[in-house]
Amino acid sequence: MDFNHYFTNEELSDQLDAWVAKYPDLIQVTSIGNSFEGRPIWLVTLTNRHTGADTTKPAIWIDANIHATEITGTTAALYTVNRLLEGYGSDKGIAALLDKSVYYVIPRINPDGAAWAMAPNPRYVRSGVRPYPWDEKNEGLSSRDINGDGKILQMRLQDPNGDWKVSRLDPRLMEKRGLNENSGTYYRLFPEGLLEDYDGYIIKMARPLEGLDFNRNFPFEWRTEADQDGAGPYPASEPEIRALVDFIAKHPNINIAITFHTFSRVILRPYSTKSDDDMNTEDLWVFKKIGELGSKLTGYRCVSTFHDFKYHPKEVTTGAFDDWMYDHHGVFTYTIELWDLPTAAGIKDRKWIEWWREHPHEEDLQILKWIDEHGAPDAYMEWQPYEHPQLGHVEMGGWNYMYTWRNPPLDFVEAEVKGHCDYMLTLGELLPYLKIHTLNITKLSPDKYHLNLVVENTGFLPSYTSQQGKSRKSARPVRVELQLPDGARLTSGKLKEELGHLEGRSNKLEVSANFADSPTDNRARLEWVIQAAKGSVIKLNVLSERAGSITTEVILK
Ligand SMILES: [Zn+2]
Repeated sequence: MDFNHYFTNEELSDQLDAWVAKYPDLIQVTSIGNSFEGRPIWLVTLTNRHTGADTTKPAIWIDANIHATEITGTTAALYTVNRLLEGYGSDKGIAALLDKSVYYVIPRINPDGAAWAMAPNPRYVRSGVRPYPWDEKNEGLSSRDINGDGKILQMRLQDPNGDWKVSRLDPRLMEKRGLNENSGTYYRLFPEGLLEDYDGYIIKMARPLEGLDFNRNFPFEWRTEADQDGAGPYPASEPEIRALVDFIAKHPNINIAITFHTFSRVILRPYSTKSDDDMNTEDLWVFKKIGELGSKLTGYRCVSTFHDFKYHPKEVTTGAFDDWMYDHHGVFTYTIELWDLPTAAGIKDRKWIEWWREHPHEEDLQILKWIDEHGAPDAYMEWQPYEHPQLGHVEMGGWNYMYTWRNPPLDFVEAEVKGHCDYMLTLGELLPYLKIHTLNITKLSPDKYHLNLVVENTGFLPSYTSQQGKSRKSARPVRVELQLPDGARLTSGKLKEELGHLEGRSNKLEVSANFADSPTDNRARLEWVIQAAKGSVIKLNVLSERAGSITTEVILK
């Protein structure tokens, strides 16, 4: 398979069908709902179905392409699916992952937006294609391909009061006009597009007709449009997000979640809305540790959205997937921003947001040179005169943003997503996992038996995932249920017993051996006395929402 590739919706469906045909025991593909324009939203369930149903196993969640143009995430998700399927037969580690756990993968949350972005005559919207909040076009300039070349570039318009000038380093580049510069030729820069209701004088940037941002539509701290652009009319109002929210609410087996976006080469963790000081400290430590694994495998730094990725220092964004998953469900959730053109071009440790306001112009040239060498021929276009039907004489050219800034040039896609696949597999090794440590029977008298059960969690995470999960009561404690045959009865113990939660190793991050402190808090014990005839079969269910469930039987001998 070629992963230097962006998958159209048709290619995505075909690929999923091909996998189902080839690996029927390991993959299941279902639609969790339809998009606004009626396209299916595919869910890939990866697990060995012979070792139990997906709902009886701990799970990892992976999704991608919630934002319309961020199609690299789809390739990253599919790359991971392919690796798990191909590796099952030959790689013991991968076989163990699919035997014991489940990966839920939504390679494309937003098939409508992706279809628009990948069309021969593309339209780039933030998320959904539903007009919002109003049905009619907004006054001002909206971006679209107006000369029919299949690209949405930039327009420069000469204006003595413009804020741009032609670069002194390379005439193809635009450079910011200095504060006190007054004797040159200056330009205004606009996206390629047309104006609605233009009076010939005032050029406004139109509010996008399709103003939804699906990643502001989740129920966590949701705010109305007045405070949060793109939030939608109410939480989970959009069919894509509603389908996701419903599925996740019904699948408490999810412990860790990854959502793929572009761009910035960064692993973001909650919260978006508050400081690390205001979140649970133990969870913060675990968030950082799991993030470090990702940094090692991908080279991406892991940071808090609130501290390092706010678009404006005084403003927060609300209704995001990662915050909702962690805050409401206690799931360790990371937003991975794949790809970063400046970093690829050799600019080290840039400050993701501040860089847009302030960086040496030489870096713009460095980026352009990298694209000259590595980008497609149409990645950056020379400025060409163009008679705009409304603005008159302009020049069209500059960045072809979709496959430079927003997504890597084709030759760089696989290299970008590879390390993330390793990270996804590693995350599977952290899941809580229930096992029976001991199950033995002692005969007390001809028809009385003592049953001794010790259950343990063998995973890194506890059976409640996180402190937040525990305090939200989002996962039930581990339980044991006995089923006795007719004529049998318990003389001690109960048919349904609650074992409580089982710790893993995430509460033992202390690295000083001075505090020799490793209790077996991952284990719990139960005993029963059963009165039953010899040969009776006792059925035992050990149930955990997050750590999987076990069904077994004992025969009284
Ligand atoms: Zn995004």
